[in-house]
Amino acid sequence: MGGQPLFILSEDSERTSGKDAQQSNITAGKAISEAVRTTLGPRGMDKMLVSDSGDVVITNDGATILNEMDIEHPAAEMIVDVAQTQEDEIGDGTTTAAIIAGQLLAQAESLFEDDVHATTVVEGYHEAAALAHEAIDEMTLDDEVDEGLLRSVAESSMTGKGTGGVTADSLAETVVEAVSQVSGEEGVERDNITLQTQVGGSSGETELIQGIALDEEPVHDGMPDAVEDADIGLLDVELGVKTGDVDAEYSIDSIDQLNAAMDAEESELKETAEAIVDSGVDVLFNSEDIDDRVASMLANEGVLAFDSLSSSDIRGIASATGARRVGALEDFESEEFGHAESIRTEHFAEDSLVFIEGGAAAESVTVLVRGGTEHVVNELERAIRDALDVVSSAADTGNVVPGAGATEIAMAAHIRAEAAGVSGRKQLAVEAFADALDTVPRTLAENGGLDAIDSLVELRGEHDDSGRAGLIIDGQFREIGDPVEHGVVDPAAVKHEAIESATEAATMIARIDDVIAAE
Ligand code: ADP
Ligand code: MG
Repeated sequence: MGGQPLFILSEDSERTSGKDAQQSNITAGKAISEAVRTTLGPRGMDKMLVSDSGDVVITNDGATILNEMDIEHPAAEMIVDVAQTQEDEIGDGTTTAAIIAGQLLAQAESLFEDDVHATTVVEGYHEAAALAHEAIDEMTLDDEVDEGLLRSVAESSMTGKGTGGVTADSLAETVVEAVSQVSGEEGVERDNITLQTQVGGSSGETELIQGIALDEEPVHDGMPDAVEDADIGLLDVELGVKTGDVDAEYSIDSIDQLNAAMDAEESELKETAEAIVDSGVDVLFNSEDIDDRVASMLANEGVLAFDSLSSSDIRGIASATGARRVGALEDFESEEFGHAESIRTEHFAEDSLVFIEGGAAAESVTVLVRGGTEHVVNELERAIRDALDVVSSAADTGNVVPGAGATEIAMAAHIRAEAAGVSGRKQLAVEAFADALDTVPRTLAENGGLDAIDSLVELRGEHDDSGRAGLIIDGQFREIGDPVEHGVVDPAAVKHEAIESATEAATMIARIDDVIAAE
């Protein structure tokens, strides 16, 4: 080779390697988990996020915070992914997962300073994670997961969220009821629960609808507000005067001809309306437009009709009521109709909703989320969505563990006990993993206004005595004791997933010693 330098990177790309790369990745990862720390637990605070366009989101939800933040650092993005995976897989525990991931990185940093090699750290972390999973299984309650326990799961998941003036009680009950209504022999059909938000009214008016709710208004004011025992038809046909593909132009020379043309149009509309009325349908949902004159004729005959529905809404009605979509007016007959016990429209401050309850086909239910302002409604929706996810997960797997830090304390204790048997420097990494888990109870204590060290010492002592020690926080009440007695429980799946995704991200970041960034 001559004196020609060999370029493999473009001039614009930036490269950081070795300790610098590690340092920068770890710092970024830690920073992200610091950002969500203060939101953990019942006394967690909210964050207000403002986008460049001025949109404001107020939330306590880890995944939402991290998603809304404009994060550029690639390692930091990996922590955001941890929260996102947690959200996608389980629906709750996002803050916990991000905090653990950040702490694993912080611990890795001090291990590197003590000259523990990255691969040793990675191995140690994986061994410790396996021990943590063991401890979670060990902590899983033997009790059957009944409604009472599910309510506790829902409540623990919603505490500290912007649940407004509503007692977590009634919301938890709504959530558990929703889940039990869509549970069958096959388990929980989570997809059969939809959320519909409605600004106006108070969050206490949040309720469970035995069916689906759509953001729609009848096509005519004179139509009935409610129909009991309703036959429902779905149509994909424009109901108006047929307009050809080309613009036809008629030359009308006399008043008679004009009248004749108008009569022809009138009778065509009338025929259309009659076809609908004669079919015997009570309620019509059309994906296409309905002409005002047809609407008025339908109203006169007491038919309730909605037009311009989205395809997904039509599908929802079809699956709830058993109605089939019809593409031609000639085929609009009773054997294609679905059925519901009741259909009613209700008017709210800004818009109106139509409720389809007691549908003949699927057991779909809707949680109608109410609140005074859009921010309240949106945060409440996130809290309820998380609660629905965790209650479904707890009901499906039947596995629940004590919350309030008790499971993290147990995992750390189990890992420390087993660390003694690990040889070499790897032992340090295993122990470091246990230290990282301590951050969860520590943070709960800090956010609850307690001294973190004192609380940790007490929790460990109590864990050694009773095997189940959490830091229970309720309003001004603080106690170290059995979380299950106080109804603070989390699904085991939340803990398993948090350990898994946090370990994966932290070990992936720790192994990186070279960052090559293209411009
Ligand atoms: P995440 O995004 O991780 O779910 P949260 O802010 O929802 O974060 O906090 C969840 C943690 O708060 C869990 O460890 C849970 O056990 C704990 N927790 C819930 N309710 C209580 C309570 N009343 N006292 C103490 N800890 C609680
Ligand atoms: Mg939560």
